[in-house]
Formats: sequence, C-alpha cells, structure tokens
Amino acid sequence: MALQITLPGQEGSGRVVGIDLGTTNSLVAYVEKGEAKVIPGQDGGIVPSVVTLDDSGNIVSVGVHAKKNALIDAAHTVYSVKRLMGKSYTDVQKESGMLSYKLAPREEGLVRVRIGNREYTPIELSSFILKELKDRAESYIGETVTKAVITVPAYFNDAQRQATKDAGRLAGLEVLRIINEPTAAALAYGLDRKKNGIVAVYDFGGGTFDISILKLSDGIFEVRSTNGDTYLGGDDIDRRLMELFLTQINRIEPKFEPTPEDLQRIRTDSERVKVELSTKNEATVEMVFAAQNVSYKRRITRQELEMMAKPILERTRKPCLDAMADAGLHPDDIDDVVLVGGATRMPAVKALVQEIFKRKPNDSLNPDETVALGAAIQADVLAGGTKDILLLDVTPLSLGIETIGGMMSTIIPRNTTIPTKARETYTTFADNQTGVEVNVYQGERDFVKDNRHLASFTLKGIPPMVAGLAKISVTFLIDADGILHVTALEEHTGLSAEVEVKPSYGLTDEEIERMLRESIQYAKEDIVGRRLVEAKTEAERVTNATERVLGQIRRHEIDIPEDRLKTLNINQLIDDLYALKKAVAGDDPTEIKAKLDLLEKSTEPLAQEIMNASVAQALEGKKLEEV
Ligand code: ADP
Ligand code: MG
Repeated sequence: MALQITLPGQEGSGRVVGIDLGTTNSLVAYVEKGEAKVIPGQDGGIVPSVVTLDDSGNIVSVGVHAKKNALIDAAHTVYSVKRLMGKSYTDVQKESGMLSYKLAPREEGLVRVRIGNREYTPIELSSFILKELKDRAESYIGETVTKAVITVPAYFNDAQRQATKDAGRLAGLEVLRIINEPTAAALAYGLDRKKNGIVAVYDFGGGTFDISILKLSDGIFEVRSTNGDTYLGGDDIDRRLMELFLTQINRIEPKFEPTPEDLQRIRTDSERVKVELSTKNEATVEMVFAAQNVSYKRRITRQELEMMAKPILERTRKPCLDAMADAGLHPDDIDDVVLVGGATRMPAVKALVQEIFKRKPNDSLNPDETVALGAAIQADVLAGGTKDILLLDVTPLSLGIETIGGMMSTIIPRNTTIPTKARETYTTFADNQTGVEVNVYQGERDFVKDNRHLASFTLKGIPPMVAGLAKISVTFLIDADGILHVTALEEHTGLSAEVEVKPSYGLTDEEIERMLRESIQYAKEDIVGRRLVEAKTEAERVTNATERVLGQIRRHEIDIPEDRLKTLNINQLIDDLYALKKAVAGDDPTEIKAKLDLLEKSTEPLAQEIMNASVAQALEGKKLEEV
C-alpha cells in the first residue's frame, strides 16, 4: 500500500518540526539546543487555518490574509476544514448551511469543497495550510524542513488520522508520527516541570474537545484514558450567537437574505463578542448591511453569553467523567488539570472544570502554544535528539468487526496502549469457497450500524477445501499513529491471503498518487512565478477595492465631511496606490508585497472612516433595534 515517491527537497535529512494543525489556528514549532519554541510571526506565530483560492485553483493566501478575505470573498475562502476531515457529505450536510463556502453534494466518499469550477478534498485544503507552515519554518530556520509530527484530537478516528497523514504527504512532509493533542500538551507540560503524577489535560479549542488522563513518571508519559467529542468547540458558541443575531435581524427585516459575506461578518462579530466577554462583563455588536439597508445593534452581557453557552460547555462533562471511570480514577486521584485550547480562556469553562474535577485548574501554560511545543518535542525524540522520554498513547475507540445480526464484535477495546495487535481466525462456510468478506468498524455501540465503518476487505485466494477447514488468521495492527493495518494468513497452506482494504472515507492510492504528481508539478514550477501570481492577485483585489471607494468619494456617494477628509491623507494613499500599480506591472513579488503593505496601512484610516459613516447613515435609516 505504501507509496514511494520522493518529493523535491525531500532527499537528505532536513529539519524536523512539530505541527499543531488546528480547526481554527495552526502553529509550527521546533526544538533548538534542547528547547522547544514556536516559529514566530504575526500574532505570536499563530496561523489561522484559513485558505483563499481563486477560480483557477491558485492559492491566493493562507492565514491572516485569508481570514480577512473571508469578509470580502466568502465563496473562495475555506475555514474549519478540519471539521470535514475524514467525513462524507452526509456526515456534514447538517451544518453546511452555516458555512459560507460550498460543499459539493456527493453520494459517497469524502466530502469535497467547491470553489469556482474545482472541487477539493479536505485533505488537499489541509495540505495548503501545512505547506504554509512548512514554508514559514524553512524561511525562519534557514534549512529545508522535510519531516514533521502532526497532532490530531485524541478522539480522531482512523479515517481522520489517515486523512491528516495524507495531507502531510501532499504538503511534502514525511509524517514521522501522528500524536494526540492532549498527549502533546502533557509532554510540553511535564517536561517543563519535571513533574510526576496523574494529570488531566482538558483541551477545548475551536472545533474539538478532548480530555486525556495521563500518568507521568520519570519521562514516561502514559495515557491512561482518553475521551472527547470531535464536533464540539468554541465554534459552536459562535454559531449560537450567530443564530441569535440572525433571528433578531430577521425580526427587524423579514426579507433580510444574508450573503455569504454577511454571514461571515456575523460570524466574525460573534466570535469577537465571545472573546471580549472572557475579560469584560459587557460587549456590543453593531452591524450594517448597507446593500439591504439594515443595521443591527445589540448589547450582550457575559451572563447572557454564559446562559447560551451552558448547554455546549455541559457537553464536556460526560467525557471527563467517562475518562476518569475508564482510568479507574476519582477526582481526588488527579494531581493537576491542565487547560489547553483558546476556548478555555472563558471564565465559565474554568468554573465548569473546577466543578468537575473539584480543584482549580492549571491555566499557567499558554493555551495556544502547548500542543505545538509538545509536537516539536516528540519530533525531536523521533529524530534522535531529546532522550529519555517515552510516550505511551492509547487508541480512543474500539475496533471491531461485524458479526451475525449486524452486531459489533470488539477486537481491540478502546484505551488500549498503542501500537497494539490482535488476531482473529476466520473460516469458510461453503465447500471450495475461495473468498471471505470482512467489515471493520470503529466505535462503542453494540450494533455496527451505529459505529463508523472503516473498511471492508476481502480475503481472496483461499485454496479450495471443505467448508470450515480453512483457517485464515487475520492480524489487526493499530500503529503508533492510531491507524489500522490488516494482514492475513491461511494457516494450513501458509499462504498469505490477499487483503484488499477499501477505506470508506479515505482517498484511494490512485487518488493520492495523482494529487502527489500534481503537487510535484506544482512544486517544480518556478516558485517565484507562483509567488508572483499570488502577489498580483492580492494586489489587484486591493487596488480595485481602493479605486472603487475613491470613485464613490469623488461622486459623493460616500459622505465624508471635508475637514475629516483632510485628516485622512488621501494624497499619500493615491501615491501608494500608484506605487502598487507600478509594482504590479513589474515582476518582483517582494516589491509588490512591500507596496501592498504600504497601501494597506494608508487605507486603514479611510476604511475606519467609511465604517463610521455607513453606521451613521444606517442609523439615520431608523432600522435600529436596541434590544
Ligand atoms: P483549535 O485548536 O480548534 O484550532 P484554538 O485552541 O486555537 O482552536 O482555539 C480557538 C477557539 O478559542 C476559538 O473558538 C476562539 O474563538 C476561542 N478563543 C480564543 N481566545 C478566546 C478568549 N479569550 N475567550 C474565549 N474564547 C477564545
Ligand atoms: Mg487545538
């Protein structure tokens, strides 16, 4: 099954890094002189997990810029792609209405995102984010980066892990190991403090919730149990706020039909309000939808937010209790509860954790960085750097096969330390039967229909014999990445039966091969050429927008008082605009980026002014409801 393609720059050793590929934010870290650190950048090295693509499939931007693009070009901007990893269209259909980009309806296989005329798997989209992190690391370290440890939520199933690994491969990274986010966090926590004892890691991010309980003893990090929900996070709270705001806007203006950009705007404001309410008691949203002549303003208190968030936060309680029960522990047995993930900054989360574990949680680590730092440490261990550390992780979900009546027969129970192996013996039911079909599932329910179908495989080439005589032993191996491998052997003949695994939610080898081939072609293309296309696209977007606004001011379609206009330094703005246009006519991407930055800076006061003006205008429109 393994595919051997050497990507350009993948020969030789190169640096190893640790990557936290988050639903909302991603980071890359590495170990230097025995110390783990995050590759710095804007916002402390946090790269929003957002990608903007143009109609012909070029990457326009990744990260902060892409996040901004979501407000003006929602249909081309993809976020929260991690929520789609390893999922089918049916799995995610429910929430597709809340996304501002399009999913392509499909009967089976992986869900795909449609942008322009092209469709992308979540694997490809994630690989764009990973590639950006790789590039950043390379330009910061000044060496090629070829190998990485990538983290996933502990509760990710086989398909989601496989998808993450494939994304790494597509980005030109050899994925040394997939490790669980809370385990990585514990590694960073434990190493830092040289602590021993039982630690619970409560990781509440944008899209996923994880709880893991570990035993730390002299460099051995042993996961005792893990639990969680891959569909639970700060995003859900944003969505609750969005629903509230949308309902109220619709009450003011029943005909209000939000464009994808409007939805994005509401989403951004919802998140901002939520974040503000972690430190303040009150926050305000003020939104103007000029095209529909609707404006909306609302004050919201922390108490209101907490009431809305409560049912969401409460959903983290049972996984915590189950994890303790699985580990055979009580809150008293736990020495420390570590908080990880941006959403744990909410006071209500801290209070809930304190209630569940009956102790004040430890919020001394930077909840954004811990996972990436732990991944970097594990990467360094695997590369032979850091010594005397051993990670013993577990499989979060039971693995089993379908038996008579659609029942699940568990082969490897959840919370088994990985890597782990189990063997089952099969036989034939009919004389001269030469094939047996096996269906593999992951999950905890009694009936397979309630669990996740991982793969079907057929044992073929069994020598013809009397029914029941053949003895085919099948080995299920869960590797250190938490991914399943299957091998089979017919015991009488010693022949290895052929195993044909058809993952239900993965890519076929052919698909991966094609994508890799495409990405190699892509990589071989002149890198400067690609940067140039990206820079030009971005520059054109900004010059067009600026010229449009300048025209509107000239035609007095936007009303800015004369004296205010003077303070905005329009002449400088126009100079910067022409400087950018001149740069765009040339072919130096660095020059274009530099001029683009200048123009963006000089348009900032104007943008602010226009926002204020349109708010004022809309306020006059008397469509305001102060609730
Ligand atoms: P992920 O691991 O899913 O990428 P992060 O750990 O980066 O996520 O957390 C992102 C989530 O944390 C988002 O929902 C974001 O709104 C939320 N968040 C970040 N800072 C705060 C804060 N100060 N208060 C409340 N929520 C926050
Ligand atoms: Mg995270």
